[in-house]
Amino acid sequence: MTQIAPTPSAATAAPASVIAAPATATGAWKVADVVALYDLPFNDLLYRAQQIHREHFDPNLIQLSTLLSIKTGGCPEDCSYCPQAARYDTGVEAEKLMPLDQVLDAARTAKDHGATRFCMGAAWRNPKEHQVEQVAAMVRGVKALGLETCVTLGMLKGEQAQALKHAGLDYYNHNLDTSPEFYGQVISTRTYQDRLDTLEHVRDAGINVCCGGIVGMGESRRERAGLIAQLANLAPYPESVPINNLVQVPGTPLAGTEPLDPFEFVRTIAVARITMPRAMVRLSAGREQMNEALQALCFAAGANSIFYGERLLTTGNPQADADRALLKRLGIRTEGLNPQASDATTAAQCGDACGHA
Ligand code: SF4
Repeated sequence: MTQIAPTPSAATAAPASVIAAPATATGAWKVADVVALYDLPFNDLLYRAQQIHREHFDPNLIQLSTLLSIKTGGCPEDCSYCPQAARYDTGVEAEKLMPLDQVLDAARTAKDHGATRFCMGAAWRNPKEHQVEQVAAMVRGVKALGLETCVTLGMLKGEQAQALKHAGLDYYNHNLDTSPEFYGQVISTRTYQDRLDTLEHVRDAGINVCCGGIVGMGESRRERAGLIAQLANLAPYPESVPINNLVQVPGTPLAGTEPLDPFEFVRTIAVARITMPRAMVRLSAGREQMNEALQALCFAAGANSIFYGERLLTTGNPQADADRALLKRLGIRTEGLNPQASDATTAAQCGDACGHA
């Protein structure tokens, strides 16, 4: 059986018999090792993921967050999955940046409904300076309500990241979307390196990183493994890892793609948990298309964060009441963080429906 090397960040990720664990020469995850995880029998993979999950988190506790689109549509980028790209006829109209008072009203509502973190997404290629100032005011206002903050605004320069940090920003979402090998089939208007550069600016500013990707875009298992390896090999790996299942929106180039086997999605959650043991792994876009049994499997595989109660950036999300009913049936609590996780980089709740850059 192929041996699986542990990530260097997984200091306490003891190997199981199904995953012998000599470190690679560099200590990094190789794509082949991640593929080998995917290739495990389903029950073995979930068992291993659940073991690692329990080493770092309360397995019956998840975080809730709310995502607000503060600036919808009209984006100049060409992300093939995204209904907010201006070039695709998806029915999403370009809107202006939402006024501060409306954002704060939404944040208050989110807090009243149990969210502990409030995520704000803007469909920009990259923000201009005055837009960073406007978002910084939102960050300050949301923080003053006692919520943690996250934004996703596209590519950031170093000084912009510093300005947002100064405003009190806790997390910045910027997804890698997919593997470097598959990337060119999804986006052409920015490079993989552009994304890595933004992540570096965010790290350098001392902001927590929220970074994940999208599966179900027609990529191969090896390409899914390539995404996970990229994420796990970020040094350090992201505090928060949103895993999106493609929501096929008519009018986007990826509409009509062969849907991903649901078990492959669960496997992706499990592999993310194993390779990034201390990260919050979030069920993000695509959850509305999942039945309750599939969501429960995702929790068993190590997902411990969801968006709820609001629409994701432009796609639907199950209603908060239905979510709470499901969590209750599963005996999953939603209050606060497990002390076991307090030494880990704490959870992030940002991320978005369309994997906004
Ligand atoms: S994912 Fe983000 S950058 Fe890409 S088109 Fe959509 S809004 Fe624009």
